[in-house]
Amino acid sequence: MTRPEIDCTVYSGWYPLLARLHRQLTSVTSDFAYVQIKEKYGTLRCHLDYGESVDEFTRGVCEVLIGASTDESRSVCEFCGKRGSTRDDLPRIKTMCAGCYRPRRPHAPAE
Ligand SMILES: [Zn+2]
Repeated sequence: MTRPEIDCTVYSGWYPLLARLHRQLTSVTSDFAYVQIKEKYGTLRCHLDYGESVDEFTRGVCEVLIGASTDESRSVCEFCGKRGSTRDDLPRIKTMCAGCYRPRRPHAPAE
């Protein structure tokens, strides 16, 4: 999969989630652009810019799909994609598996 040139700041553990979200979105409409893909409070956030052909209903479907991915990201390690959980005892909330989780050292994920 070629990554489009977008403002994407999440780690690779979430790429499969993003790839699937992309397939779901493009099956609904192709008239959108990614504005930003980021992590916030340990969950995936994806912001789209919709084209003029996208009506309210279509937009709603896309937002539901994005919401489902955001929910799922709560249980997927952002660094390696394994099953993880949201760690709120770190300086910044992150979702990590047991292997990547390092108490008080959130910026050094294991490869
Ligand atoms: Zn991990």
